Amino acid sequence: MPPSDGKQCGFSHDHYRHCLEKALGLGYRFATMGEYVDGVAGKGKIILMRHDEDFSPEAAKALADIEADLGVRSTYFFRYHARQYNLLSLPTIALLKELRGQGHEIGLHGETHALPALIEQAGELLNRERELLTLLVGVEVTGLSRHEPARTGSSASDKVPAGFKYEAYSDQFSGLKYISDSSAHWREGCMCQHIGEVDRLYILTHGFWWYRQTPLENY
Ligand SMILES: [Zn+2]
Ligand SMILES: [Zn+2]
Repeated sequence: MPPSDGKQCGFSHDHYRHCLEKALGLGYRFATMGEYVDGVAGKGKIILMRHDEDFSPEAAKALADIEADLGVRSTYFFRYHARQYNLLSLPTIALLKELRGQGHEIGLHGETHALPALIEQAGELLNRERELLTLLVGVEVTGLSRHEPARTGSSASDKVPAGFKYEAYSDQFSGLKYISDSSAHWREGCMCQHIGEVDRLYILTHGFWWYRQTPLENY
């Protein structure tokens, strides 16, 4: 595991900001995942910051605001079939448009196995959801990340369905070091420990795990 940078790690918004500031100070550039796939992210030190929003658009917005404050752009993936929020509600659509206004990319956090009766048409379902999200947000949505691919047995994680430019778990991103905050646990050490050690990073976070003062404020 790379050495700690001496700052207290954890999932506070303060530490999130610290990680971004550290990266910017070391000369990293942040690109959206779509930019990376399009080949316009450039060479050298780069970070793709990906956010899978399992439970809370508001938690996503809190991180997006910190990023926007620092001029950082990242990629946010949202679900249609979450019990905890409604992607089609007017406040959520307005929130997504605000993210877009901050320069972030919006993608679909797809639940291929959400509707077992439609499993044969999963690709078509995902593409229709993509088209609707494009219409609602007002910008072409081209990215897919699958929700819980391991637990749901989603076997097509390396396939890019029709209509999409990329799938977040595909080998399109194999040139980057991937780390994740899954279940509020960095298996390979906090992202701040990789920033500065690895030039090309692909970091997955879930806004739900991050908090202003206490983890309890999110649930
Ligand atoms: Zn840290
Ligand atoms: Zn998820």
